[in-house]
Parts: sequence; structure tokens; C-alpha cells
Amino acid sequence: MRKIDVLEPKGYCAGVANAIRIAKDVKDKHPHQEVYVLGMLVHNQIVIDELEQYGIHSIYGKDIESEVKKLAKDSVVIYTAHGHTKRLESLVNSLGLVSYDAVCGKVKFNLTLINDYLSKGHEVIYIGKSGHPEALAATLDMEGVYLYDVDSEFDFAQIQDPSPLVLNQTTLNISSLKNIHQKIAEKIPQAEFKDEICNATRLRQENIINLSSSVDLILVVGDTRSSNSNRLLEIAKAYHPNVPSRLINSVKDLDSNLLENKNHIAIASGASTPISSIDMIVEYLNNFR
Ligand code: SF4
Repeated sequence: MRKIDVLEPKGYCAGVANAIRIAKDVKDKHPHQEVYVLGMLVHNQIVIDELEQYGIHSIYGKDIESEVKKLAKDSVVIYTAHGHTKRLESLVNSLGLVSYDAVCGKVKFNLTLINDYLSKGHEVIYIGKSGHPEALAATLDMEGVYLYDVDSEFDFAQIQDPSPLVLNQTTLNISSLKNIHQKIAEKIPQAEFKDEICNATRLRQENIINLSSSVDLILVVGDTRSSNSNRLLEIAKAYHPNVPSRLINSVKDLDSNLLENKNHIAIASGASTPISSIDMIVEYLNNFR
């Protein structure tokens, strides 16, 4: 009998659940107006499709600012769970659109911290993934904030502050963050470090690191655009290099050859993955012979 372990936490994190609730509440409040999310509310297509069915449109995969300029004057807009740039907010306000914010509390806390340190005259090194909306919200047009892209070398010469604040995107790889902190500490010994990886991300990664040695396949259920799901796959590959691991969105992504002779499968999932996606995969695996 094949053993299947569904790792905790599973299902929506608090930030994702809250963002979905806010979006639906906004539509309930404005039933006769068009409601648009400016970006993907959370990085999961199933969620985006469900919102569309609820009457909430999502603007993504295009230049959001250009699209916003085309909206009807009585449109209602919602900012995503990842935060948004000051530039986008200025545009929305200048157009007089009614807006709501579905930003996660943890992301908001980081943005407040950045502004707090900037106001005290400090510089900020923000460790994140270039192009991710959360990193953009924290760094774009933010004078004194420098993006340390996890995939590139950082130019330390641009930092003038001997004790800058160092903080990070909430969904980074916990091991990579530790390495980057070490590099920064060597160059700027007085830097002030704040590890801002959220618990929803950290616990999921730790539970993959601590998997039983009998696990012979690791499946991460999540959208390919989800940062925290991709980090889970990264962790699985780094800590269990001899165990095959895959990021899948649904049963359709499962290669049956991969399941041959697998007796102990671990299933991890991203913070924006619906429980229903995990349940369908478990059911399929239980019936696979
Ligand atoms: S993964 Fe973390 S930061 Fe992102 S929405 Fe969930 S709780 Fe918030």
C-alpha cells in the first residue's frame, strides 16, 4: 500500500484567505460596477478563475498602468495581496477610481518598516526577486531602497549608510536568505538584519527539509507563477537531491511513469493553493495502481 503524506500547513495562508475575502466583499458592495484586481490577487490561476466567476476581473500579463487608464470612470479597483507601487496608487487616485487594498498584513508591515527607516535617514537593502510584485512595491521609485536580487550579484558600492536596514520579500528560500545575510554582514558589519520570511512560507519549507528518509517522491502543488511554491521545489531539490520532485498544478501535470514503484509520496503545497487541488491529487494517487 502506497503511503501519502500531505504536509502541513496546507490550504490558503491567512494573507491569501483575507485577500479573497476582501475581493468578494468589494464585489458584494459594488454589484452594479465593474470590479478589477490590478494584477493577480494571488498567484494561482484557479483562484483567479473563481474570482472571474464571481464577477471580479483580473488585469495581468499586460501593462497594468495602460490598462487602468482605459477603465470606465465608475470602475472599482483592488490592489493585490503582494502590495503595489506608489506610482500605481497615484495613477488610480488621479483617475478618481474607487480603490480597495487586499495587501497581506505581513507585506504591509514590511512596507511600513521600510518607510520608518527611510524617514530616520537610513538606507534599505531589500532582498527579493526582481520583477516580483512584492519586490516592486518595496523598491520601485523608492529613493534609498536598493534591491538585492537573489539571482544576481549586488553592487555594494551604492550603499552609503554604515548601518542600513536589511529586509526581504516574505516568500524567499530560507537557506538562500541565510547565505545572502552572511555576504552582507561581511561587507557591512553594522547592517541591521530583519528576517521577514513569513511563517506560512517558513513552516512549509522546514517541513520539506525534515521529510522522512523513506519518501521516494516529492510533489509540490501550486501555480508555476507562485513564488512560495517555486521555493518549495527549490528546497526539495537542494535537501533531497536523490528524490525526484515536481511542481504540479493538477493531476493533468502528473506523469504516470513518475509514479511507478513509488511507495511513499510527500505532497507539499503553496500558500495560494486551494485545498481542493490537493484533495484531487491525493484521490488520484490513492486510486493509481
Ligand atoms: S505567503 Fe506569507 S506574505 Fe504571502 S500572503 Fe501568505 S502570509 Fe502573506
